[in-house]
Amino acid sequence: MSKIIDGRKIAEDIKTNLLALAQDLEKKTGIKPGLAILRVGEDPASQLYVQRKGLSAKDVGYCFEEHVFPAWVSPHLLEAKILELNQAEHIHGIILQLPLPPQLDKFHFLSLIDPSKDVDGLHPLNAGKLFQGLPGGFVACTPLGCLKLLQTVHSSLEGLNVGVVGSSLLVGRPMAMLMLQQDCTVWIAHSKTQNLPALCETADILMVAIGSPQFIQGDWIRKGATVLDVGINHLASGDIVGDVDFLSAQTRAGAITPVPGGVGPMTVVSLLRNTLEAAFRHAGQPFPL
Ligand code: NAP
Repeated sequence: MSKIIDGRKIAEDIKTNLLALAQDLEKKTGIKPGLAILRVGEDPASQLYVQRKGLSAKDVGYCFEEHVFPAWVSPHLLEAKILELNQAEHIHGIILQLPLPPQLDKFHFLSLIDPSKDVDGLHPLNAGKLFQGLPGGFVACTPLGCLKLLQTVHSSLEGLNVGVVGSSLLVGRPMAMLMLQQDCTVWIAHSKTQNLPALCETADILMVAIGSPQFIQGDWIRKGATVLDVGINHLASGDIVGDVDFLSAQTRAGAITPVPGGVGPMTVVSLLRNTLEAAFRHAGQPFPL
């Protein structure tokens, strides 16, 4: 049976550290980290995720604001709020909660966020820095959290074969770039990929983010591989499951994240980490993490 990677516990330990650093920053400079989230429409999953992010931000002593707009908001109003938050002295991190309603172009609105406050790492400048391997940007929160989880399992990632299933802007693409930076050999699969089971079998580390409940089967997984399941799927039964069939995967993987309690808490804690780094940069202080 595989080792279960306890994302909740790892995230709680990191939060303790972030709280201490935030208190220290405030004592030295008077600056309290500030996070603002813009949410458009009434998507229930987005409401829940924003609520969790807000509670966690308050846990570590940050200032937190949620700005909610109706699905039919005028693009000008949303643009104006982003530009206002870009100028706000007390806000160091801005997030535009995705997905947006279909009539709003996410790329346009993401590109309006000041890159120095883009703690989701989705502004083209930050995504481009990750692509080029340049320092000083922000890395998207889920890939960053996944890297932290991997570092609890592997003392070195160099030379390992990594498979990323799913090529989204939010998860798959930045994940692949981050793993390339760790000197891994990386492939990315998507919905048109041929013979996915055989490809999965080549991966020492398999990272899955497709949004298809229990899609990846245990016998696709290389014996002893580390499996990170990013998927969050709400079943009609009320259960939440990942993109990997956990029970069969557990018999093959060396280590695996559960859903819930694996990658999800690490996404939130990575957002807190990026926000704190943005506040340190704003204060002209070196970030110790
Ligand atoms: P997304 O934007 O819908 O992208 C899904 C990706 O998966 C696309 O690249 C798609 O390929 C690919 N795909 C779909 N079906 C596939 C298949 N059968 N085989 C191979 N690839 C397939 O989704 P996302 O935003 O990345 O989210 C993915 C999942 O992760 C969702 O369940 C989401 O809720 C979850 N999520 C969790 C966290 C967390 O913190 N745990 C964070 C973000 C997202 P094409 O491009 O060819 O369509």
